[in-house]
Amino acid sequence: MASSDTIFGRILRGEIPCQEVYADDLCLAFRDVNPQAPVHVLVIPREPIPQLGEATDAHQALLGNLLLVAAKVARLEGLESWRTVINSGAEAGQTVFHLHLHVIGGRPLAWPPG
Ligand code: AMP
Repeated sequence: MASSDTIFGRILRGEIPCQEVYADDLCLAFRDVNPQAPVHVLVIPREPIPQLGEATDAHQALLGNLLLVAAKVARLEGLESWRTVINSGAEAGQTVFHLHLHVIGGRPLAWPPG
């Protein structure tokens, strides 16, 4: 499936709604529909890269932007500590094949993850 055909592609095209937290030319951040913590925001690039393992050197600026926006989102949400997660591949728990970064916080987080 082309990643532009995922549910996140549909959100980017405005075909289904989301609870937007932040947006810029390169990415969109919105609340996860099934939050795992009081704050659970997804940051997705507008370019439909299926998973981190398929990113190339050409995506350097875009990937840097995703991390900086994750920190911006954490500040906007008032978090002092938070976790960023990128699941890459089905066995790692990726379910939506449009690259996305989770920003999770607002409660103590255990380590290691499952
Ligand atoms: P992953 O398991 O890393 O692929 O994460 C996909 C995330 O997308 C899950 O945490 C889902 O709860 C979330 N999700 C799926 N559909 C939507 C949606 N329409 N709006 C917001 N989050 C969604």
